[in-house]
Amino acid sequence: MRNIIFFGPPGAGKGTQAKTISTYLKLPHLSTGEILRSKITQKDQIALQLKEIIDSGKLVSDEILNQIVAEKISTDCEDGFILDGYPRTLYQANFLNNLLENKNYKLNHIFNIDLSFDILKKRILKRSTEENREDDNASVIETRFNEYNKTTKPVSDFYKKDFNEIYYDIDGNDQIEKITNKIKQIL
Ligand code: AMP
Repeated sequence: MRNIIFFGPPGAGKGTQAKTISTYLKLPHLSTGEILRSKITQKDQIALQLKEIIDSGKLVSDEILNQIVAEKISTDCEDGFILDGYPRTLYQANFLNNLLENKNYKLNHIFNIDLSFDILKKRILKRSTEENREDDNASVIETRFNEYNKTTKPVSDFYKKDFNEIYYDIDGNDQIEKITNKIKQIL
């Protein structure tokens, strides 16, 4: 079993790398952003509430996210998983650690892909025209970036401290293929 987490601010390329590595290792890619976006297409009352939160750049509640991830890890992940976009709060990290402990699962690798806000902003704006995501516009980017700094960066820092031997900082300025090769080398 191989269990991996990708951290990084919005636009750092963690989704792209997580997807590539998921194909490479033949492990499920658990992108909580993608799972939430697919829930939105159901257009029921919860979907409308989710859409409003996501489009504003704020975080969806821990309870919803913990439930989604617990369900996925308990059903689809016999060989392991690649988490992308979770945990994003210390509460989620705590929940995940308990879940893994109860199942006797261990984390094997944590990758933190980082780069400067100026470059992130340009990348996200480019992605918004390619993927038509409503949370990729200039005013929402700042909220998402602030959420990351305020709430998720401390989670990544917690793992860096407590799981230092499996935690890898990756420079997100490099070309996509170069980053992938670095990650593969580490794996
Ligand atoms: P992402 O595709 O990872 O950038 O996620 C898009 C949006 O989904 C975020 O801005 C949040 O609104 C929501 N989201 C995704 N993952 C989480 C999470 N672990 N906790 C709370 N909200 C999340």
